Amino acid sequence: MPALATTHSLNDYLKLPISRYREQLKQGNAKYIEVSYTHRSKPYQYSIQLSKSACHYGGYRYWWLCPKCSQRVSVLYCAGMYVCRHCIGANYGSQLQQPIDRLFSRADAIRQRLGWQSGVAHGIDERPKGMHHSTYERLVNEHERVTAKIWQQTLDKLGCTS
Ligand SMILES: [Zn+2]
Repeated sequence: MPALATTHSLNDYLKLPISRYREQLKQGNAKYIEVSYTHRSKPYQYSIQLSKSACHYGGYRYWWLCPKCSQRVSVLYCAGMYVCRHCIGANYGSQLQQPIDRLFSRADAIRQRLGWQSGVAHGIDERPKGMHHSTYERLVNEHERVTAKIWQQTLDKLGCTS
């Protein structure tokens, strides 16, 4: 059951259609788009992965890969981070209470140990050289939990204010 349907419509969210980058994407073989913006006085900067598919009559069509679930979509919605409509619905309405800034710095600390790029969106990365496999597993799992909480809080906040 999409909790979203009873409280907010997708129209309440800021949209990011891939078509907005049409001109930029014509230039070359882009694999991702860098985004940089401020949402509710918090700065965001990260890249969103792209996917492309061949059109029937030649040329290509570009898609977003949702930073959260990697689904191929043509529109992303801003919930702090940009995510697909499915992710907004799936995460909405959870009740986790933990200061979001602490979650962000914890996630950053884990990423640093793992040698990942900063930003919540990332792919599956290699285990750093010399790190024990169980340590790696534990950090990856914790990172997953922490980022999930960040998502939920961001989405909750959005639900309360708009
Ligand atoms: Zn998604």
